[in-house]
Amino acid sequence: MALRCAGLFLGKELASSGKQVRALSTTTALGQGNFLKNSPNAALDKTILDRYRKLETPVDRYQATYLWIDGTGENVRLKDRVLDKIPSSAADLPKWQYDGSSTYQASGENSDTTLVPRAIYKDPFKPGKNDIIVMCDTYKADGTATESNKRASLQAAIDKVTAHEPWFGIEQEYTLLDVDGHPFGWPANGFPAPQGPYYCGVGADRVYARDLVEAHALACLYAGVDFAGTNAEVMPAQWEYQVGPSVGMKAADDLWMSRYILQRIAEEFGVVVTFDPKPMEGPWNGAGAHTNFSTKAMRSDGGMKPIEEAIEKLSKRHDRHIKAYDPKEGKDNERRLVGRLETSSIDKFSWGIANRGVSVRVPRGVANAGKGYLEDRRPSSNCDPYAVCDALIRTCLLDE
Ligand SMILES: [Mg+2]
Repeated sequence: MALRCAGLFLGKELASSGKQVRALSTTTALGQGNFLKNSPNAALDKTILDRYRKLETPVDRYQATYLWIDGTGENVRLKDRVLDKIPSSAADLPKWQYDGSSTYQASGENSDTTLVPRAIYKDPFKPGKNDIIVMCDTYKADGTATESNKRASLQAAIDKVTAHEPWFGIEQEYTLLDVDGHPFGWPANGFPAPQGPYYCGVGADRVYARDLVEAHALACLYAGVDFAGTNAEVMPAQWEYQVGPSVGMKAADDLWMSRYILQRIAEEFGVVVTFDPKPMEGPWNGAGAHTNFSTKAMRSDGGMKPIEEAIEKLSKRHDRHIKAYDPKEGKDNERRLVGRLETSSIDKFSWGIANRGVSVRVPRGVANAGKGYLEDRRPSSNCDPYAVCDALIRTCLLDE
């Protein structure tokens, strides 16, 4: 009898004192598993940095990490600078240039690209209490937004609908990989037992890397992200966390910041995070970024009517939304939105109450209360939340 567990096969039966006991087989999968060992980051001695953290640095010097989205539309880049005063707001921070030709955002001849600070977070990775991470958006030499800057368009849309008080709450699913690209904790040569016991599960044979997940929650709360919760997902090594609901820009900024924090912590553990919407082919759930959306009218008595009106508008702009919901304009979601494994078909808009196989779900509690919010289940896990929120506002509130 073999029980698959964290990539190890339990089940070598030994006869001892007349009793049968189980022991780890160290000759098969364990020897082939790469569990962190191949990661130079996990191998580094983590205690050395702490010695330098104890040094007294000048009291009027603060570190700021400037974070931005690169030309892929799904990866972040960062660089650090030292400030000589504590900023009172993002507008108080200096703009900064970087080499856009090294981030797929500019040609070599005209590569200076500008970072404009937009939102400030406390930095959970630096020791000073005034050290910060700054979410930036990016501009070309002529002052126009780069192609991957979807935040600028969202800001323009939000400015037109402030009276509607749009709220967004986003459910970020992701998958942990070993440094060899294989899902973290999966047997080196094979698959775990089929999906079923892993979602919201507990136990060493069901859940991998909870330490990392809990560290991420604490770091996000420290940073000032509107972090809302976590759960283990349907596929082993897949997890989810949620941000929001938050007004306007906050949820999208928070999602990018929380993705960065997740990747930094995973870097320390020597584990890789992928936001790919379908990391494993076959009968394994993909990963999404279900986006919950509401307006003041939807949250008020009689809110079902504006919810249904929004769904009606969404049904007429399905293509626009599919294009906005992953960085490859629908190509990534083609692998995920297959009409099975808790997804709808990519080709056809659908909606329903409490149905997880539709494009847009109205939760049972919302239908019963007659007010609340809608859940757009189409955004891919690697979506740009700025593009998703922008499309929702423009379709549902600006009738574009
Ligand atoms: Mg989920």
